[in-house]
Amino acid sequence: MSNIALSQKAQKLMRLCDLSGFDRVDDLLLAMVLKDTSCPAICTTEGCDHTADMEPDQDQGFCEVCGGNTLLSVLVLADLI
Ligand SMILES: [Zn+2]
Repeated sequence: MSNIALSQKAQKLMRLCDLSGFDRVDDLLLAMVLKDTSCPAICTTEGCDHTADMEPDQDQGFCEVCGGNTLLSVLVLADLI
């Protein structure tokens, strides 16, 4: 195991993957590419893991938990768009 810390983005991506019921980030991303309506987004505030369905290109969605415009869609998190 590497002891290099994962970037916060990668950690959020893995957390979102976990919360969405996917085993691997690749599976989650593939599922999102195949459906083009909404996709899961996660709050990027440290300590807040609120998730919601947002537009695929959302990069400042409103978080109902911490009140910030901090939700990033999974596709934005993964740098796919
Ligand atoms: Zn939040």
